[in-house]
Amino acid sequence: MKIAIGSLQCESNTFCPLATRKADFDIAIGEAMLEKVHVKDLLEDARATIVPTLYAHALPGGAVAKEDFLWFVDQIVTPLPTSGLAGIWLYLHGAMYVEEIGSGEAYLLKHIREKVGYALPIALALDFHANNSDEICDLANIICGFRTAPHTDQIATERKAMQLLLQSINEKLLPSPRLARPYVLVPGDAVQTSVSPLREIMEESDRMELSPEILCAQVFGGQQWVDSPYTGPSMVVTHKHDTAIAQDYANSLAKLYWQARSDFSFLIEALEPAEAITAALQTPDKLVFISDSGDNTTAGAAGDNGFFINLLQNYTIEKVLIAGIADSQAVARCYKSNLGDTLTLTVGGSLSPRSEKAQITGTLVHRGEIIGYTGELAGESATIDCGNFTVVITEQRTAFTRKDIFQSIHLDVFDFRIVVVKLGYLFPELEQLADRSILAFTPGSSAERIQDIGLTQIPRPMYPFDDNFY
Ligand SMILES: [Zn+2]
Repeated sequence: MKIAIGSLQCESNTFCPLATRKADFDIAIGEAMLEKVHVKDLLEDARATIVPTLYAHALPGGAVAKEDFLWFVDQIVTPLPTSGLAGIWLYLHGAMYVEEIGSGEAYLLKHIREKVGYALPIALALDFHANNSDEICDLANIICGFRTAPHTDQIATERKAMQLLLQSINEKLLPSPRLARPYVLVPGDAVQTSVSPLREIMEESDRMELSPEILCAQVFGGQQWVDSPYTGPSMVVTHKHDTAIAQDYANSLAKLYWQARSDFSFLIEALEPAEAITAALQTPDKLVFISDSGDNTTAGAAGDNGFFINLLQNYTIEKVLIAGIADSQAVARCYKSNLGDTLTLTVGGSLSPRSEKAQITGTLVHRGEIIGYTGELAGESATIDCGNFTVVITEQRTAFTRKDIFQSIHLDVFDFRIVVVKLGYLFPELEQLADRSILAFTPGSSAERIQDIGLTQIPRPMYPFDDNFY
């Protein structure tokens, strides 16, 4: 029994003008990919012959460059034998958007089917934020997704998709998942699976899966920063053989989501940018984190908007840390200077034309490599003490999601009163440090409010643009 496996993941943000390139991906080809995914033991237990292809993973970013994406497709499709394959397992994001192509997942699946045909099952493990389509359901046989947001069950999802693939091979099943949409867009940061109203909808999907005929009943939250005709939440149900039942179940989950549309709310305090600063100033002797949510690199934004620095310059304010802003040229200038030098620098606006530039003057107090969002080294950084506020400039786009990222450049958040980060909701480690955390509705390619994003390609009617259309 030969089973092919592959993984290609990047969550796209089509409002970020910076294309995601091959160099942005962590890549493992052939046998080397086995260490990057978590299904090898399941395949060995099933005495399967593994056909490894490609593992490639990038942080969220702008649409993937077409030529680089086609190279990835080739790495997955070429090793597939044209006959003798029992099944295919793929771990994809589900919201990968490719320049001139659109859905990267649909394109990849279509090219796989052209080579291997439709007589063998393909199982997908996807992110909760996948933007699914009927086309994906027609091309795949099993569709699983994370059941947590924030995500904690990635490995469990990989394994579930593989177990269902093995079951389908053993029982000679070729299921066809069915999809329903609630036509509701709510900000991603208001959608957490452990919090009502989504918690109850997730519980309902769990109950559906108790039926042995239902292989998977999956709620997907969608990714709001992809402007496409298939953007948004979807409910995808895989029944062993009855597509009518699958469609009924998917419809009833979508109905629950629709009924709850006005019950989703931000789970942290969410304010206009100026109000966020005022609120922080009114919280003396406390550590306040402010999320510059419109420039959230973990949602694919460029991370180089000087908007918040410019805003802060209007206030008499002390002990503020801007963590951080991406600008490789400004970092290069710091590396040509000496520690202790006073520098006047223009920072930001070098990656995204939507981003403001900001001018800062201060003392160069630190230079060094910084740890990235997933623990890797993420290039050089420089820290400028401007008196009232301190700015970390990074060579590459980065995200301050954990304590060790601050520590890697010798910063202690407790030396500050206000820490400004380019995130949406705070990651759990920072949440523990914060006395108060505020999400600021700043402008940019990861604007939080659905009406501020600039979506033009989504299906209509769609809540909150339209209402009461059912
Ligand atoms: Zn996600």
